[in-house]
Amino acid sequence: MEYRFSHMINSFKSSAVREILKLTQGKSIISLAGGLPAEEHFPLDAVRDAFNRVLDQGKGVLQYGLTEGYTPLREDLCQHLARKGMNVTPDDMLITTGSQQAIDLLTRVYLDPGDVVLVEKPTYLAAIQVFNSRDARLVSVEGDADGIDLDDLKRKVEQHKPKLLYVIPTFSNPAGKAWSLERRKGVLDICKKNNVLILEDDPYGELKFGEDTHYPSIFSLDEHPKGSCVVYTSTFSKVVAPALRTGWVVGDPEVIRHMTRAKQAADLHSSTMDQQALHQLFLHFDLYAHIATIRREYEQRKNHMISLMKQQNWEGVTWLEPKGGMFVWVELPEHIQAEHMLKYAVEEGVAFVPGFAFYATEPKHNTMRLNFTHTDNEQMRIGIDRLSRAMDKVKAEAASAR
Ligand code: PMP
Repeated sequence: MEYRFSHMINSFKSSAVREILKLTQGKSIISLAGGLPAEEHFPLDAVRDAFNRVLDQGKGVLQYGLTEGYTPLREDLCQHLARKGMNVTPDDMLITTGSQQAIDLLTRVYLDPGDVVLVEKPTYLAAIQVFNSRDARLVSVEGDADGIDLDDLKRKVEQHKPKLLYVIPTFSNPAGKAWSLERRKGVLDICKKNNVLILEDDPYGELKFGEDTHYPSIFSLDEHPKGSCVVYTSTFSKVVAPALRTGWVVGDPEVIRHMTRAKQAADLHSSTMDQQALHQLFLHFDLYAHIATIRREYEQRKNHMISLMKQQNWEGVTWLEPKGGMFVWVELPEHIQAEHMLKYAVEEGVAFVPGFAFYATEPKHNTMRLNFTHTDNEQMRIGIDRLSRAMDKVKAEAASAR
């Protein structure tokens, strides 16, 4: 057989990073690379109990379900979102197979090949892959610790006439940023005036460190939930477990209706077992106490990682201390390429993700993303020591090449 694949396969290429990280499988490598939650804190007993409660209801629970999602779960989520100042009804919502599918479905119904999508610099790697699969043209917008740069956004909106802006304003992946209120309002204002739809991706918003600051979603700042210029997606992956593959997306009913049709073509509906179990969790488990526990734990792990890095006294290395989420974004001295350093790191027995992978355009090669949620304190201490040795090696090599 001579296969005749679609041109789309080129956008599904395995990244160089994935290839390097494959080398880490099965070895005693400490991975600071993945975006994995802490397994010790998965609510295993509560999930088991939830599935048992579903199964106890009889054979009907194994039937096909609605594409829109299990209605009681959508109702639970409306209440959950109301706590965050987002007033939506189940008709404004679609349950998806993780928030990854929400990005994919919106791309299918909203973008044509060649359409411009504005993204942060850096941004979520797997969203770049989705937009590329649609042959969208990606344009990166500059930013700083407070979020996207409004002047650059305005300039690029005028110059490129984008259809969509994709953002992760609250504890972003990979940079761990939390946008200021002013930037959130500014982005909404610019996008509204220019008819640019905002896709707000919020998988990490619940993982906030400290109690003080409130980070309202851009969706909640939009005063027109009908005809809204924001589509908002979030997920149970970081607050319950990624294996349940359950996320949700809210937006204007017209947008949601089209996404629902696209979902029907993609997979009919997400797993009804998982959705029913999540509804049982809302009924019989204190999800908010659980979230408070993982927040405290992740904050402790973040503090531990930052203090370990400070102790190393790495020259010319800077980072942004995250206010939530799962990642620390590190800048190395200009002349050091993180992907090059990764080879030494793997030799030493530690892995991270080189930052260039997170840029849609103009990658910065002297950056890397470190995950602090998946390793315990002792493993993290060993991991950072190993990272230090890798850094010494790459610095020595760079010095001898000069
Ligand atoms: N968006 C961002 C920014 C992410 O980091 C992730 C997970 N790594 C996702 C979306 C997808 O999450 P899920 O499909 O598990 O809900």
